[in-house]
Amino acid sequence: MRLTYKYKLKPTKPQIATFQTWLELARRQYNFRLGQRFDWYEATRSRVDACPLVVSIQPVEEIYKDIPLTRTLTKGKRKGEVVSNIVEQGYVDWFSVQRADLKQTKTLFPEYKELDSQVLQNVIDRVEYAFSRFTKPDANGNRSGKPKFKGKHYYKSFTYTQLHNCDLTKDERGRDCINLKKIGLVPIVLHRPIPDGFEVKTGTVKQVTDGWEINLVLEDKDVPVTVAEIQPTEENSLGIDLGVENYVTLSTGETVEHPRFFRQSAHKLEKLQQRLAKRVKHSKPWKILKAKIAKLHQRIARQRLDWQFKLAYWLFSKCDVLFVEDLKLKNLTRRAKPKVSNEGEWLPNGQAAKSGLNKSMLDAAHGQFVQVLKFVAWKLGKVVREVDPRGTSQHCWNCFAQVAKQLSDRWHDCPCGASLHRDDNSAKLIKKIGLICSIAGMDYASLKTASELWFGGSPRCTA
Ligand SMILES: [Zn+2]
Repeated sequence: MRLTYKYKLKPTKPQIATFQTWLELARRQYNFRLGQRFDWYEATRSRVDACPLVVSIQPVEEIYKDIPLTRTLTKGKRKGEVVSNIVEQGYVDWFSVQRADLKQTKTLFPEYKELDSQVLQNVIDRVEYAFSRFTKPDANGNRSGKPKFKGKHYYKSFTYTQLHNCDLTKDERGRDCINLKKIGLVPIVLHRPIPDGFEVKTGTVKQVTDGWEINLVLEDKDVPVTVAEIQPTEENSLGIDLGVENYVTLSTGETVEHPRFFRQSAHKLEKLQQRLAKRVKHSKPWKILKAKIAKLHQRIARQRLDWQFKLAYWLFSKCDVLFVEDLKLKNLTRRAKPKVSNEGEWLPNGQAAKSGLNKSMLDAAHGQFVQVLKFVAWKLGKVVREVDPRGTSQHCWNCFAQVAKQLSDRWHDCPCGASLHRDDNSAKLIKKIGLICSIAGMDYASLKTASELWFGGSPRCTA
């Protein structure tokens, strides 16, 4: 069982100065290592259909001419046995090369000796992660974009990879502190204790708008990650539709509006943005306003998270199993397809309407809400089940028939007699799909399988 706990740090002025120097050094290191990776990548890549080689096009020695021969451990060898083998079957284990090369960095740039070695090594880990997300697809076949070089304000955290419970101590004045290597005791606000049995594993020091915080990763190997097994029934389950008009619509017909504080903050934000636009860029008043805006953004984010937790607890007070649409926010926010008439003219495709929707969609942070729901469900021993959202706004909850709607059509009218708000219909349909598929023991619930089960194996009826 792994948890991440966030605590506020109260570093002294010299400590803040050290943090900032470290961030800058780590940032430079990150950019340099990323550049190395790009060089290698550019030197060896080719069009997929043009070259079937699995080895480097350029001789490996050539690529390595600037890098001193490093001695790294190859896989499969006994621990402690050092072999000078950085090239394995034509492939280069860049991660090991770069890690070993840190020694060289410290010789060339002595300021890196001030940095804790875990922190420095973690920079390489980050490069490795960013690059492998770019080159190798994950389990779902998705890849990230090309990693970016980090500008001054885009590198905000560094990580200690080996922390322990004993690093949380008190200083001579009796304040709670965390012992960070090469920095010393940093005062920390322990607003909640580390849960019993959990070990502190890693700590990421992060610069945020109003100071510094540390994210501690806690682990308890004895606590298994259990998923509650509850058989959903008509009574103990609930379907919800996440929407733009109402934040949540329940299958019982209840609705939860967008929180009012958000609209208030949005209004405030708008006013500040207008004032900012009138200031001279990078002037002192501009900077003050800019800081104010950043603070407000942070406040909104915190308010929203708090509100989402409250909402999640409220929802689970009503049910044991919650069916929610599987949000692929990307699909929702993708640009509308262009429409072209027969004469080759561009026709309105609804992108303008969709942009407005996209904005409020992202603001509403539904994706974050689903994460919160899952966490709360785990805590309460309840279940969240995701349902494929395809078709849930177009089909009737009562008879599964397709009732085509535009985004602007807010009412669902079906020949079968069902007449209700479209979000209400979606929530009811999500619950129905989830229930039918769960009772049939399906792993993943979707409209297609649900209607097939409903109509007894016959193909979907769209009459
Ligand atoms: Zn119907």
